[in-house]
Amino acid sequence: MKNKNLQFLERELDEIKEKNLYRTLRLLKGEQQPVVIIDDREVILLCSNNYLGLSSHPKLKAAAKEAIDKYGCSASSSRLISGNMGLHEKLEGKIANFKKTEDSLLFNSGYTANVGVIPTLIGKGDVIFSDELNHASIIDGCRMSRAEIRVFPHKDMDFLEKLLSESSKFKRKLIITDGVFSMDGDLAPLPEIVKLADKYSSAIMVDDAHATGILGRGGRGIVEHYGLDGKVEIIMGTLGKALGSFGAYIAGNKILKEYLINKCRSFIFTTALPPPVLASSFAAIELIEGEPQIREKLWSNVKYLRKELTQLGYSIGGETQIIPIIIGDEGLTMTLGERLLDEGVFVQGIRYPTVPRGKARLRITVSSAHSMDNLEKALDAFDKVGHELKII
Ligand code: PMP
Repeated sequence: MKNKNLQFLERELDEIKEKNLYRTLRLLKGEQQPVVIIDDREVILLCSNNYLGLSSHPKLKAAAKEAIDKYGCSASSSRLISGNMGLHEKLEGKIANFKKTEDSLLFNSGYTANVGVIPTLIGKGDVIFSDELNHASIIDGCRMSRAEIRVFPHKDMDFLEKLLSESSKFKRKLIITDGVFSMDGDLAPLPEIVKLADKYSSAIMVDDAHATGILGRGGRGIVEHYGLDGKVEIIMGTLGKALGSFGAYIAGNKILKEYLINKCRSFIFTTALPPPVLASSFAAIELIEGEPQIREKLWSNVKYLRKELTQLGYSIGGETQIIPIIIGDEGLTMTLGERLLDEGVFVQGIRYPTVPRGKARLRITVSSAHSMDNLEKALDAFDKVGHELKII
């Protein structure tokens, strides 16, 4: 059916194609394992956020199955109506204990946590200081808040201090940053941010989506990594990345939780997370606490892949399990991704608006589940295709 009122759809899609920014969905068959099936071919998966390989861990599966048998498939209501189950409260207690905060509150995704929490805490007449490379959900949350938004250049603490020093007229201030930057794999300078926040009386919110389960001696995230327990008021984290499940949380003081339960629209007006997700998230935290060797394996894979890619001649960024190869040109980035796929390696190209224009990249992510054989085969493909396309 042609709808004349929606003719702009086709026109705009054509424009997107012309700019090499057109997106399609790629079908993966089977589980999120280090080797997956795409188009009936086995390929090495190097772009999933399943950093600890937990999404198909037997303990998570067993926990989810047991929860379905005991509690069913859905919470069937928002938490504030009839959807609040023991599993929610048990998981919130576990998260708070893991993050060393007074309490925590579950959200249905990291996206809904950020777009809900930021406008709940900060509004018209307030000011937010936001790193230029913060995740899209933070950017959207900041826009929805209607506060003044001061964007500082990536990790530029002098610039942040200048902005803070010019902001004495605002009553509420919030500095907000990714912990590990999602497309760059580097760490926020949290100790400096904490000092500045203290000096200029600003609250801090950290998005720990890519550091939870990864950084710190206990895998508790960037706050533990820098020894800053108790210094960050609002810690957001996700359950769908290293934890191999789904959903998100805010960890902080009890009063923050009470306030969000009463005022945060993305908490109030949505069906609560379902039992299998809650149970598998709980099992994931138990594994992170109880089996540090999973995290140690991840870091040994990270070090190996970073060293070998550099030796091949690739210029890589960051310092974590997220390894960006910034190509710049959108078309070349996608060609590189396609050629790697032909050679049996799946790394998705990342383009505007996920990253700034002209900063297109391959975002490689490595997991503890990758074997040495997986990584060596992937490196052979990077070697071959990199030379072919004159990238190395
Ligand atoms: N914050 C960051 C830094 C992220 O990378 C992501 C997901 N890519 C989110 C928030 C959103 O989390 P979720 O996928 O749970 O919505």
